[in-house]
Amino acid sequence: SVPAAILSALATSARGGVLFKGGSALETLAEVDTFAFDKTGTLTTGRAEVTGVVSSIPRTEFLALIAGLEVQSEHPIAEAVRRHASAMNIDPAPISGVVTMASEGIRGRDMSGGEVWAGNPRMVARMCACIDGAKLVALADTTETVIYAGRDDRVLGAVTVADRPRQTSACALAALRADGVGRLVMMTGDRSPVGLRIGAELGFGAQDVHADLLPEDKVRLVGELADRGRVAFVGDGVNDAAALARSDVGIAMGVAGSEVALQAADIALLSDDLERLASARRLARRTRRVIR
Ligand code: ADP
Ligand code: MG
Repeated sequence: SVPAAILSALATSARGGVLFKGGSALETLAEVDTFAFDKTGTLTTGRAEVTGVVSSIPRTEFLALIAGLEVQSEHPIAEAVRRHASAMNIDPAPISGVVTMASEGIRGRDMSGGEVWAGNPRMVARMCACIDGAKLVALADTTETVIYAGRDDRVLGAVTVADRPRQTSACALAALRADGVGRLVMMTGDRSPVGLRIGAELGFGAQDVHADLLPEDKVRLVGELADRGRVAFVGDGVNDAAALARSDVGIAMGVAGSEVALQAADIALLSDDLERLASARRLARRTRRVIR
């Protein structure tokens, strides 16, 4: 049977919006010495704002195209594009046969039968498209997230999106450090200028920011960390499920997060507030001292 101290800790955590899928997750959380965080939607709000649009076709047509794709996506940055188009009274273009490419973007067919797509430089490369024009080329260095979009092998433009750390992220990371967590790592599918900027804002060392990752890269990195200690992975997205499963304790953001991530996790955070996670770890450690 489960010791009363553990049951009590599970109940206390649940009231704070931290749901453990059993007592062993609580015990493992107490032993974790490395935390790996997904960026978008986990450390950052996932409620990003569009900050700029560059396009070689009329802007309205470009935004209709990219919104037509993003209305069919669950990615946090897709919502920024949808809201932006909607605020400008632009109807999303009808796009059929949409396919999501994890950590890359989204593609489908428009009314002309052309293949239309939106995503990061990986997606641009997949479409054998070329980023040219001074304004588009300059975006390579921006520390904001960039969504390139195009038709077939032509880039038609790009949207920049500012994704900001959650207000509570810095305090939560500080609390984990103060509680003896030796290593904090960020893992993102976004470009490295963005990862490094957000990492610096949150006090990650540059060596602990891993960018341009595919879901399988996150799994590999979590595995490498797990060889050296006890690792928790905190993520929100569909494409984080494998990394959540690979870690010693998978922690899913429950409100904004996807169903798949929740299923793969050992702990669900019903609040977006990562400080609740730090509190849960402190409680887990106290509880372990009591039962030993
Ligand atoms: P993170 O690991 O930070 O949560 P993801 O791996 O989910 O980020 O996504 C990585 C990158 O892939 C995004 O920064 C974006 O450039 C691109 N991407 C993913 N989904 C979409 C989408 N629906 N539309 C456009 N770009 C996308
Ligand atoms: Mg994410």
